[in-house]
Amino acid sequence: MGKYDFIAAELGELRRQGLYNTIRTIGSAVGAWTVVDGRRVLNMCSNNYLGFANDPRLKGAARQALEEYGVGPAAVRSIAGTMTLHVEFERKLAAFKGAEDALSLQSGFCANLAAIPTLMGQGHVLFTDELNHASIIDGCRLTKAERVIYPHRDVDALAKALEERKDAPRKLIVTDGVFSMDGDLAPLPAIVEVAERYEAMVMVDDAHGEGVLGRAGRGIVDHFGVHGRVDIEMGTLSKAFGVVGGYLAGKREIIEYLRQRARPFLFSSAATPADVAACMAAVDVLEKSDEPVRRLWDNARYFKAKMKDLGFDLGQSETPITPVMLGEAPTAWEFSKRLFQRDVFAQAIVFPTVPRGKARLRVMVSAVHTKEDLDYAVDAFAKVGRELGVI
Ligand SMILES: *Cc1c(COP(=O)(O)O)cnc(C)c1O
Repeated sequence: MGKYDFIAAELGELRRQGLYNTIRTIGSAVGAWTVVDGRRVLNMCSNNYLGFANDPRLKGAARQALEEYGVGPAAVRSIAGTMTLHVEFERKLAAFKGAEDALSLQSGFCANLAAIPTLMGQGHVLFTDELNHASIIDGCRLTKAERVIYPHRDVDALAKALEERKDAPRKLIVTDGVFSMDGDLAPLPAIVEVAERYEAMVMVDDAHGEGVLGRAGRGIVDHFGVHGRVDIEMGTLSKAFGVVGGYLAGKREIIEYLRQRARPFLFSSAATPADVAACMAAVDVLEKSDEPVRRLWDNARYFKAKMKDLGFDLGQSETPITPVMLGEAPTAWEFSKRLFQRDVFAQAIVFPTVPRGKARLRVMVSAVHTKEDLDYAVDAFAKVGRELGVI
């Protein structure tokens, strides 16, 4: 027995179950068409909702910050000082979101790990939707708080669980705003209402609402008009914003507390100047015009209508996230492979990212796709769908 035998065994098992993930290599900027494994293909699976990943305005801002501030912050902000860029960005982002304050972090994943274990501990209770993102799950695992996992979007079950634990001194409800693999929305107004009844805090993960929902992409709180009633908004700058990074926004005292206490902020270096400047430019673009957001939704509606007409099962999505449900993992991989042969890139999503038997292609429409691009994709989906007997 070698000490690494368990690895060979587990990887062998993944291969046997069709769950082994072969990661494709990107050889260009990410756009509507992208070089993948050396081939120029129509990109239908990046989170580049607004096309900002290669936007000249964001690139220009990044280039300027690079010249002025260098390549890295060379610091944990709380230890060796914070650049004016980061401070300015936090102010701008808070204003955009309609929040009192904001804290920028290195990624969305980090932001969840920063907020949840800082606010919660022994004797407290966390209420978390069963389909929440992995970074929320891990944030919850980092605390000694009790964890109540409620059925997906079930506010009655949530209310019942709150009633049963109404004497707990601290309660936090945490939910994805847009569920990342299905594209459905958390019933945020109802969640906020029960939270107020039981004096629980509410935290929403707006990773897929950012740049997508609300006025000019201000996110899910704006979409539902529940400003001031959600205690913490967590978001990512790695999706619609096209860059990389995360943030927490909300009540002034909460953000102040996180700035003093959150470990990913206190013990990990800040985002780079170029990243932060590009994010600031993204906010500027959206503040000037909601045109990219409107284009995104227009494209999403167009693509989804055509796919539905063909008979594809698109699940329960209410957003541009378009899951094409295919059942077992091998079907999803085969579908993806055949699409790629037709120059369409849409990667399979299988267990453990989604439950077993719910493998899918998660198609992501972008504002930078043209109608011709979308027609091209629909045509490829139709052909492969018929070949595999899916439609
Ligand atoms: C992508 C995602 C994250 C992580 O964001 P990163 O900036 O990529 O680390 C967190 N939550 C949800 C719901 C996501 O979809």
